[in-house]
Amino acid sequence: MKSHKFYTFLHKQIPVVQALSLIPGMAYVFLGYYYKVQLPAIIWYVMLALVSLWGVRIYRNFHYAEMTKSQLERWYSELVYFFYTIFLLWTAIFLIYILVDLPQMRHVAIFTQMGTAVLASTLLMSDRRLYLPIILIFMVPLLAYYLSINEFYAYALAFLSCVFSWLLFYAARSSSALLMKTHHQASHDSLTGLSNRYFFIEQLQQVINQLRDEGGHSYLLLIDLDHFKSVNDSLGHDVGDILLQEVSKRLVEANGANNILARLGGDEFIMVGNRSGDIDECREKAIQLADKLVETIKQIYIINGHHIYISCSVGVSLVDARSLNANRFIKEADIAMYEVKGSGRDGVFLFNEELSTRVEHHLEIERHLHFAVQKNEIFLQFQPQVDVMKKVVGAEALVRWNSPKLGPVLPAEFIPIAEQTGLIVELGSYILEQSFRTLKAWEEEGVMLQHLAINISMRQLLHHTFVDSVRLLCNLYLSEKLCQKIIFEITESIAPEDISILVERMQAISELGIRFSMDDFGTGYSSLVNLKQLAVSEIKIDRSFVAEIEHRESDKSMVRTILGLARLLDCRVVAEGVETQGQFDFLIANDCRIFQGYYFSLPLLSADFVDYYRNSK
Ligand code: C2E
Ligand code: CA
Ligand code: CA
Repeated sequence: MKSHKFYTFLHKQIPVVQALSLIPGMAYVFLGYYYKVQLPAIIWYVMLALVSLWGVRIYRNFHYAEMTKSQLERWYSELVYFFYTIFLLWTAIFLIYILVDLPQMRHVAIFTQMGTAVLASTLLMSDRRLYLPIILIFMVPLLAYYLSINEFYAYALAFLSCVFSWLLFYAARSSSALLMKTHHQASHDSLTGLSNRYFFIEQLQQVINQLRDEGGHSYLLLIDLDHFKSVNDSLGHDVGDILLQEVSKRLVEANGANNILARLGGDEFIMVGNRSGDIDECREKAIQLADKLVETIKQIYIINGHHIYISCSVGVSLVDARSLNANRFIKEADIAMYEVKGSGRDGVFLFNEELSTRVEHHLEIERHLHFAVQKNEIFLQFQPQVDVMKKVVGAEALVRWNSPKLGPVLPAEFIPIAEQTGLIVELGSYILEQSFRTLKAWEEEGVMLQHLAINISMRQLLHHTFVDSVRLLCNLYLSEKLCQKIIFEITESIAPEDISILVERMQAISELGIRFSMDDFGTGYSSLVNLKQLAVSEIKIDRSFVAEIEHRESDKSMVRTILGLARLLDCRVVAEGVETQGQFDFLIANDCRIFQGYYFSLPLLSADFVDYYRNSK
């Protein structure tokens, strides 16, 4: 399969060959006129001009990005015939001048023939289908001419012509090999030998162009290995590389239908299927193949004595002419693939419109969130935390976003997006600054809380600037005494590999007097291990347990267990999401001391919070 570079190279040679034919061709017409062979020379030149016009047409017909594979092949064939014809014409002028039987003309003829042979083979060396016949077209008549003379010097010249042809052939062949190699390297992945991203997109574009012309559907499979990084990290890059090669071999084998397969980079592979007329059939074929790939990849690998198991996540998107943009379909397959990753990896997901709307919404949030802080659209509310007497003892700061374009957006919606995009770092420091300022202002107004809780995202906490920025803000706004009132709420969603950095960060933060609370306790995993390792001083009982506490036995015992655990670990407990007197009673009866929820108050703006505080006293 030839790439863009190959075709554009030949395309560019068309005007060169035309110019090198028409301009010197004129000189030959004058020569012919001078030596009285004007008629054949003029006829020849007219033919040359006509063939050049044909060349113009071929030149204009080349639109790589819009052509299908078969159109491209047809175009290429026509181009080859064009080159054959124009060079045959040069041989014709050779024959005309040779046959005139004037020594001057013979010299011209022979010079022309050799010169054009050199030029043509240099210009068209990229392709064997071109340079080989063209060298023959030029050199065979010359050879025949010498042989026909029947004299010793002519035999010698015939021999030299053979040597000359061979030299031309040899030079063209090595340049061609070099050129092909460069083209191949530019369009293929060196590790697996599969097509690379650029070449794949070219091929996909051709498929889309075909669907545009002929209708029908095709499909894309985006295959991403799960946890490939840990293979690389634990067994080294050499093993990782071999694994990628093995995976690509399996993909090639499983890929019976001769689909186009490529490595997009890293541990990502992509495949485009053959055309089907029927969309259901296409979908079915895609899912079947995707399932097969998932099974094939999962089989054990034995590399350098290591037994390796790896699974993959496959995103599927259906391709048709609804968009002519190849990248769009890749993006859709990518979104579908992330859906698999999100739901536990090792599986297949087919892109659909609902997903597309969700992603669109997601992107919109992302776009607007970018400027939300600068545009002052972000603010905080504070939800009171109360004791058994319903007296306010603390607060949790909760971020709010009122977007003029999107309306109020829930933190549950935009915080994960901020985390994914890294915006959480900027947003997080803004929240910290606002919270610190508020705490200081309250203190000055006589609102004396025991603590102020602030939610901190893992990504924010793990960011290398976090400790410094907290320290800076503490110095700016808070006295040592006030620092000790700050609690950072973190959630349990911690990847095990990050634990050691986390412990380090939390240690540094604790030195400022700030404490940590484990938010949404009981909903994550490895809770106990984390509690011990991370030295948290507070646990927040997740509101999903509190919600059913009056009716569901399992939640009752869960809450009792958490409270017991907290006593053992000497942790404070906050029960969140308290909505009824019954829940409140149950929690008090089980020795819970701090409460938060709509039963007491919704999250409030700072001024309302101050009023609420004063009323509760
Ligand atoms: P969270 O930390 O668990 O926050 C408590 C959530 O429960 C808040 O929702 C609060 O409004 C809600 N809530 C409080 N009392 C009740 C109740 O009685 N019943 C019910 N059903 N819900 C109650 P919100 O403000 O929408 O926040 C959702 C999540 O967004 C938070 O969950 C937290 O994970 C995240 N979040 C909020 N603010 C921030 C922030 O400033 N930074 C970061 N990183 N995350 C934040
Ligand atoms: Ca929280
Ligand atoms: Ca919570």
